[in-house]
Amino acid sequence: YSEEQTTEDYLFKIVLVGDSAVGKSNLLARFARDEFYPNSKSTIGVEFQTQKMEINGKEIKAQIWDTAGQERFRAVTSAYYRGAVGALLVYDISRRQTFNNISRWLNELHTHSDMNVVTILVGNKSDLKDAREVSTAEGKALAEAQGLFFIETSALDSSNVAAAFQTVVIEIYNILS
Ligand code: GDP
Ligand code: MG
Repeated sequence: YSEEQTTEDYLFKIVLVGDSAVGKSNLLARFARDEFYPNSKSTIGVEFQTQKMEINGKEIKAQIWDTAGQERFRAVTSAYYRGAVGALLVYDISRRQTFNNISRWLNELHTHSDMNVVTILVGNKSDLKDAREVSTAEGKALAEAQGLFFIETSALDSSNVAAAFQTVVIEIYNILS
C-alpha cells in the first residue's frame, strides 16, 4: 500500500456524460492526445484514458471514462458512473435539444454516483458561432441553478479543453486534501 502511495498519489475517476455527438470523445481525444476527428463515429470511444497531471507537486492520475455510443440508446450502465468523483456534463451549443437534455443526464448521474461528484457543465463547439442556439448566459444560469461549474469549449480549435478537465481535477483535489 505504501509503495502504491509513492508512485501514484491520487487516482480520480471522471466520466463524460451527455447526448450523442455533442463532442465527448473529441474533448477526450483533444485533451489526452491533442487529436481531433472531423467525422468521428461513436466507435472511436475508448473505455477510459488515463491522463497524468500534477498539482502542488502531487501526481494525479485522471482516469477519464468515455462511452462507446450507448448514450444514443439512453443505455449508459450504472457501472459507467460507479466510483466517479468528477463529471463533465456536455452539450452542443449549436443544438438546443442537447442542452434541454442536461437535466436528465444530471438526474442519471446523481442516481448512479455520489451526490458530491464534482461536475462541470460544458458547452462544446464554441467555434460554431453562426450556428449557436444556446447563449453563454443560459449555460451559466443553468450551472448556477444546479451548483455546477461552467465552461464553453471547442474540441475543434482546442479552446478551454484543458481548462475544463483541470477545473474538475483541481476541485476534487481541493476537496480531498
Ligand atoms: P460524442 O458522441 O459526444 O462522443 O461526439 P464526438 O466526439 O464523436 O463528436 C461528434 C461530431 O461532432 C464529430 O463529427 C466531431 O468531429 C464533431 N465535433 C466534436 N467536437 C467539436 C467541436 O468542438 N467543434 C465542432 N465544430 N465539431 C465538433
Ligand atoms: Mg463518443
